[in-house]
Amino acid sequence: MAKTETSGHRCAVCRKRAAVAAPVPAPGGCCEACWRTAVASTAESDRSEAARRPGAPLWALTTLARDRSPLVRAEVALRRDLPEAVVAALSDPRQETDRTVLRRMAKHPALGARAHGLAALDDVVVDRQLAGNPSTPTTLLLGLSRHADAAVRQAASARLVGAALDDEGRSRLPLGVRTFLAAPRGRNGSRHPRPPS
Ligand SMILES: [Zn+2]
Repeated sequence: MAKTETSGHRCAVCRKRAAVAAPVPAPGGCCEACWRTAVASTAESDRSEAARRPGAPLWALTTLARDRSPLVRAEVALRRDLPEAVVAALSDPRQETDRTVLRRMAKHPALGARAHGLAALDDVVVDRQLAGNPSTPTTLLLGLSRHADAAVRQAASARLVGAALDDEGRSRLPLGVRTFLAAPRGRNGSRHPRPPS
């Protein structure tokens, strides 16, 4: 019988070198069999560790994102390689009730328009993350630039000014944001830091 062809990275868990057909995609990642074992484990610590492991297959991310343990879901929320459906589920306060998960999702780079749902939580930690998240829509930044919390206001205003400094960006800004940025200095106390001269 021919020896199975192997290549790529060794599984970080069982140390086997994966078959060519199912390579371990990243150093520190694991083989399919070890993913199955970790995700199905009854030990929360095993599933949490799996949620931090690089190169997760789509099925594993989807399953871990639905884990009954909020600690596991909070680990998933820190990953950058989440599919659209997982980002949507973990950032929707109607589906996800754990505050740590929601706060982590507020800074997720793929958040985009879902930031509106998180802003409705009226949680200052969430709002600070949203104000600093490059994917937060400018319409929402405009609202955050008038927030009661100074850190939220400053971060949101800085982002709006940054967007306006780029001519192409300015033409894409909603009218309300352009009006805000054109307002005379001093009328809106939150309009700083100032753009570089
Ligand atoms: Zn393995």
